[in-house]
Amino acid sequence: MSKYGKEILIGTVPVVIVFLYFLGVNIIPIVFMTVILGTFLYMNRARNGMGVGSDRKSRAAATPSYLTFDDIGGQERAKRELKEALDFLIRYDDIKRLGIRPLKGMLLTGPPGTGKTLMAKASAHYTNSIFLAASGSEFVEMYVGVGASRVRDLFKEARTRAQKENKDSAIIFIDEIDVIGGKRDGGQQKEYDQTLNQLLTEMDGIHTSESPRVLIMAATNRKEMLDSALLRPGRFDRHIEVDLPDKKARLHILNIHAKNKPMAEDVNLELIAQETFQFSGAQLESVMNEAAIYAMREELETIQQRHLSLAVDKVMLGEKTDRESTKEERDRVALHELGHAIVAERVRPGSVSQVSLSPRGKALGFVRHNPQSDQYLYTKEQIEEQIMIALGGSVAEEMFYGGRSTGSRNDFEQSLQMVRTMMDSGLTRLGIIDRSMVTKQELMKENGAILEDLTGRTRELLELHRPVFEQSLEILIAEEVLSGEQFRQLLAQHSKVEQIA
Ligand code: ADP
Repeated sequence: MSKYGKEILIGTVPVVIVFLYFLGVNIIPIVFMTVILGTFLYMNRARNGMGVGSDRKSRAAATPSYLTFDDIGGQERAKRELKEALDFLIRYDDIKRLGIRPLKGMLLTGPPGTGKTLMAKASAHYTNSIFLAASGSEFVEMYVGVGASRVRDLFKEARTRAQKENKDSAIIFIDEIDVIGGKRDGGQQKEYDQTLNQLLTEMDGIHTSESPRVLIMAATNRKEMLDSALLRPGRFDRHIEVDLPDKKARLHILNIHAKNKPMAEDVNLELIAQETFQFSGAQLESVMNEAAIYAMREELETIQQRHLSLAVDKVMLGEKTDRESTKEERDRVALHELGHAIVAERVRPGSVSQVSLSPRGKALGFVRHNPQSDQYLYTKEQIEEQIMIALGGSVAEEMFYGGRSTGSRNDFEQSLQMVRTMMDSGLTRLGIIDRSMVTKQELMKENGAILEDLTGRTRELLELHRPVFEQSLEILIAEEVLSGEQFRQLLAQHSKVEQIA
């Protein structure tokens, strides 16, 4: 009704006036009053819609602000800490009585897609506040002073909207705060400095007695990059960490996003939660969405388990592509993937769930591993095994073709990352070090030695399994996929042959 109210009013008022005129009523005072009222309403609207506030307002209106903490999966600790802090805003009288400094800024830190924006929205609902959102990059302009004036407008808009909607408080959410709040080292653009200064000035201008009260929530993935002036007491002095969800939290998030979707009765979301280690909330939402799209493509009424599995693959590896590859390429990719799979199955029996030759995203083939339980701590042996699995592809190519290809680039990136983790954790011959303590040459030497040793061990292991490569290759080329079971049977047969011999 409110959406069309204006149109209905504009339509009916002239008709009523004309009708009254024909009845012989003196309409001059009525016309006069209508014009005054119309002018007043128009001016009021123009004032509120002025400047940068208008587009942000439409965005805030489009995203429902009635989101609650129950709509956020997992993150129990973050939610609890947040609610405790928000109670400061609600228990206004106690705060005043005890002379407590008002809470002005809260910083949410954590990887992208973990629900920081959701938390800010839920906070607005929890405290019955106005919600306004902006992103750090919106303040970056070529012209000096524009960013600063945008900050000013944002605070002004928060206050006027809160007053208009009769609310006691307003929450301003600034995503990517690091864009404007990065460390000031003098070399930065003046524009950034002015914007940040304006933000600090606005924050300093917030008082306990003020009504409406303004709370700023900011999000970043790089807290260490922020200028210390921002983190000082009285500014962003409450820090809440938002982490990637663990298995229980992933299940919770999946259930939240399954609520509006028809799921088949035998769907087991727990299995999906187990398979999605290190997925963010946004990725899990995407899994549910993609699964629904697969169900729609098949014209089915409900979402099946296989749609969910396909969706996990898609979110993890990208969409299947129709890339045509040559026979040589396919053979090479097949041997490469078998290299990974054989090492994986040998160091962690039962871990391979599928070897596939269908191209996905940038990969031409992939090995799907069975879900393991969440692990946050690794021993030296476990990391070495992981590196050997990654190296298995290139070693297999060397065994059969005498050289490597560009297909191992990603594997090497992973291996180097893992070697770095070993070094930083004191798991190498360098001992417990800080990287700045050793020269680049020493690091390179140790890195080379580790990778050479592990490449050698991987080669020894794979050489023992040459016949498995040959048999699996045939099936893989013919059928494009080799299930974990088929693969294990081939490995077991080969081991028996070996024992008899
Ligand atoms: P961030 O601000 O941390 O980058 P968002 O809050 O914008 O992440 O999350 C993006 C989307 O991901 C949300 O709209 C929601 O669909 C989904 N999402 C992320 N985390 C969660 C969660 N904990 N519970 C439910 N959905 C989530």
